[in-house]
Amino acid sequence: MPEIRFYSGEPIPLELHKVKIVQKLDLVPVERRAEAMAEAGFNTFLLRNKDIYLDMLTDSGVNAMSDRQLAAMMIADDSYAGSATFTRLTDKLTEIFGTEYFLPAHQGRAAENIIAMTFVEKGSIIPMNYHFTTTKAHITRLGGYVEEVVIDEGIKVTSDHPFKGNFDLDKLRKLFEEKGDRIPFVRIEAGTNLIGGQPLSLENIIAVADMTHSYGKPVVMDASLLQDNLYFIKTREESAKDLSIREITRRIADKMDIIYFSARKLGFARGGGISIHDRELYLRMRELVPMFEGFLTYGGMSVREMEAMAVGLEETMDMDVISQGPLFIRYMTDELIRLGIPVVTPAGGLGCHLDATRFIPHVRQEEYPAGSLGAAVYIAGGIRGMERGTISEQREEDGSEHLAAVELLRLAMPRRVFTLSQVKYAIDRIRWLYDHRDLIGGLRFVEEPSSLRFFFGRLEPVSDWPEKLVKAFREDFGESL
Ligand SMILES: *Cc1c(COP(=O)(O)O)cnc(C)c1O
Repeated sequence: MPEIRFYSGEPIPLELHKVKIVQKLDLVPVERRAEAMAEAGFNTFLLRNKDIYLDMLTDSGVNAMSDRQLAAMMIADDSYAGSATFTRLTDKLTEIFGTEYFLPAHQGRAAENIIAMTFVEKGSIIPMNYHFTTTKAHITRLGGYVEEVVIDEGIKVTSDHPFKGNFDLDKLRKLFEEKGDRIPFVRIEAGTNLIGGQPLSLENIIAVADMTHSYGKPVVMDASLLQDNLYFIKTREESAKDLSIREITRRIADKMDIIYFSARKLGFARGGGISIHDRELYLRMRELVPMFEGFLTYGGMSVREMEAMAVGLEETMDMDVISQGPLFIRYMTDELIRLGIPVVTPAGGLGCHLDATRFIPHVRQEEYPAGSLGAAVYIAGGIRGMERGTISEQREEDGSEHLAAVELLRLAMPRRVFTLSQVKYAIDRIRWLYDHRDLIGGLRFVEEPSSLRFFFGRLEPVSDWPEKLVKAFREDFGESL
């Protein structure tokens, strides 16, 4: 998509879609926001939607569907076996990935479960650029280990590296040389989620695949965030700039043995599955689908979602469609940088990530800066983000806190959902908060589950800082919401 600019020269991430269906939103007063945050135990997962104005928690299952997707849902063929919908979906996957076989699964983590149960055993080592929460859980549950071989630049919060999700090829080779017999496959995560939606280059993907194959092992791609990665390859990689999105997709897919994805992200619907080239690999995984997901022609998905997914996958091949997310994220990130507010750079896919460590350096890591910032952003603007810091980690076996490498607040940008004025509003409230950052204090647990504490845990502020924030808001904004 050509970059569109105003007459003044200012670039504008112009929407190449229009709104046909809307959902009413409420913006409740700041006093109510502080109250709702307390009711939710200072955990944004426990807020209720009626109290939220901009839901930037996640991009999962909340992307806007197109008119064509909704139309396709009406022709879904609901039958237990032999459904025409399944044929349409697999034909689309064959067309774009060139894969012959498809195993449906109810969402991304279900595909991970099937792959892990097939290939991982006690002591297995799975090299990957970076882990995702559910991926790691499935591997470690079976006694396997995750080895992260992302380039050093990948975990630096600020950088200008265009492909922070790249593998470190030397580290990968070393791993093969030293522990190759324990490696059942290499996993490549497109649009690396937990380090800020950062892409890999086409060149790196091909090099990783070639190296892995030279050691006789299969390559598995987690393509959940592939659409953003495709956009970045097209716009940041010189040697790919003349390739179409379809061609880039095919060059990647031709090098993979297995491609799995969450269709809650890829394909703008809900569901997931595994695309496979080789019959042998297909047969090894196949029996797990009817056992854990559903029959082979739906795998736990609704056929309506499968129709929407087939259309959404086709739309993913359209640069006008897939550029919207990255362009909005870049707009937000650039504006925040201009205002001197610490964010993860360069802008990636998925969302904009605030760096809580630099935003509120006075809050000790033991008092959860990313969680505190998440609560403060909600109180300041009714905006819900997701903590990606120490609260998202698990305690060590001796009960001590495992301090996260980075303390981020992720503000996800669901695709095609928000308008630019809503993004500008979010920027403005974060700017206000940054001017009042000294008021923000820490949190402590009052109810701490032993696993997945970030979902269910309840916390409280270590002082009366939320009240002070409300008071300052009223002084500056008067009657405004
Ligand atoms: C979301 C996600 C998953 C898990 O998918 P679900 O559909 O939520 O189960 C796996 N990998 C990546 C990279 C993801 O972003």
